[in-house]
Amino acid sequence: MSREVRVRFAPSPTGPLHIGGVRTALYNYLFARRHGGKMILRIEDTDSQRFVPGAEEYIIESLKWCGIEIDEGVGVGGPHAPYRQSERRDIYLKYAKQLVEAGWAYYAFDTPEELDALRKEAEEAGKTFAYNYEVREKLPTSLSLGADEVEARIARGDQWVVRFKMPENEVVKMDDLIRGHVEVNTSTLDDKVLYKSADALPTYHLANIVDDHLMEVSHVIRGEEWLPSLPLHYLLYRAFGWTDTQPEFAHLPLLLKPTGGGKLSKRDGDKMGFPVFPLFWKSPSTGETARGYREDGYLAEAFINMLALLGWNPGTEQEIFSMQELINAFSLERVSKAGARFQPDKAKWFNAQYLHTMSDEALAAIYQPILKEHGIEVSDAVAGKAAGIMKERMTLTTDMWDLTSFFFVAPTEYEEKLTKKQWKGDNPAMLAKFREVLAAIDDFSKENTEVVVKAWIEANGYSLGQVMNTLRLALVGAGKGPGMFDVTEFIGKQECLKRIDSLIANVTPVE
Ligand code: GLU
Repeated sequence: MSREVRVRFAPSPTGPLHIGGVRTALYNYLFARRHGGKMILRIEDTDSQRFVPGAEEYIIESLKWCGIEIDEGVGVGGPHAPYRQSERRDIYLKYAKQLVEAGWAYYAFDTPEELDALRKEAEEAGKTFAYNYEVREKLPTSLSLGADEVEARIARGDQWVVRFKMPENEVVKMDDLIRGHVEVNTSTLDDKVLYKSADALPTYHLANIVDDHLMEVSHVIRGEEWLPSLPLHYLLYRAFGWTDTQPEFAHLPLLLKPTGGGKLSKRDGDKMGFPVFPLFWKSPSTGETARGYREDGYLAEAFINMLALLGWNPGTEQEIFSMQELINAFSLERVSKAGARFQPDKAKWFNAQYLHTMSDEALAAIYQPILKEHGIEVSDAVAGKAAGIMKERMTLTTDMWDLTSFFFVAPTEYEEKLTKKQWKGDNPAMLAKFREVLAAIDDFSKENTEVVVKAWIEANGYSLGQVMNTLRLALVGAGKGPGMFDVTEFIGKQECLKRIDSLIANVTPVE
């Protein structure tokens, strides 16, 4: 690639960032890093009606959590600052006027009533209304009014918009890095608004093209929902005379519902119990909440790994990728045209894979804050060891406490099923004797304890299952947990004896 790669993620702050948006950011980032280029974050907030407070902060925090680094943009700065479009509002009017002067755009003064009348007329004639070459001259625009009249209307403060003058019956030929060659006849397109005097702001189309040009963007990688805008964007580059430096385009496939049909929505997540947002979100205006991957117990690395493979494939069987491996392997050629079906179970599978192979140190870093919430203060080594013993049974980080709490707190209740099965017959007397065997062991390491205990079991004619399950009732209080010698070593002799005493003292054997 001869040109410096410069890509941008350009979200509109209209709510929490959907995981489809995170994937768009991720593919931009992977592409930038793969080609030694720059990743820009531009906030497209020119639609004041749809602006949601807190959304921009949410976007930035989400990218940070995911490990998607921004080289230039909001929160970072850079040579083309500012990167928030509302702070660039003075830039755009000049470009709108430039298009009017060159005959590529025009002022329109129509009122909603005038538009309604035309809409009705079209309906009565059995047509769908479009603001295009057929109607623009029937309306008060700079194409139908004299220059003096246009000036007079602007001078007296009438509201106006600038609309793109979409050519009639011309074939726009476009190339997309994912979809290949695409052609569209302009007669099927309407005259989009580019600028509005009412709020002195450009619309998405104008701001987006002007900024991509000024920010020297080389590749536009974005969601498929923007493909219908591509002919207009091509024509805008032509109208401005910027075709030489026009970016290349890549439109990413949709993320589909688990059932396949249609775009993945928050409702699908609510119905089937999985998040469609990276982080927990609470709307500052309505108080409405949405669950997030982070809070639901997913690791950022696993979440990113899962997202990367929704729409892209490495061409091999490999499924587990670190960010660096993704950077090395990523290419737009391997992004599919077809929508990618979201699979909630696969998301869990990825998370489990990451947890199962984590070092005790890494597990400790995740577990320590959870332990603190439960009032447990231990060293990192202890936290990591507890989580490490049980990691293979974990799917989410939120499983950690349930799976390992017995290492830190003695049972206060005993599972009914296990009690009924174990706390009867000879077992209470056996456990009292067994207590003395444990009390006499000096080296309480699991290896030594196992040798001593097994010898005692054999010598006394007990079964291993009988002794271990009764011990499990005393130490764990339930039929779960790792091997009993892992538990005895972890909690230590004194705590073992205390828990045995407590069972004997507090629970009446079953008849
Ligand atoms: N602001 C647009 C969005 O929210 C950006 C589309 C584009 O990347 O051109 O998706």
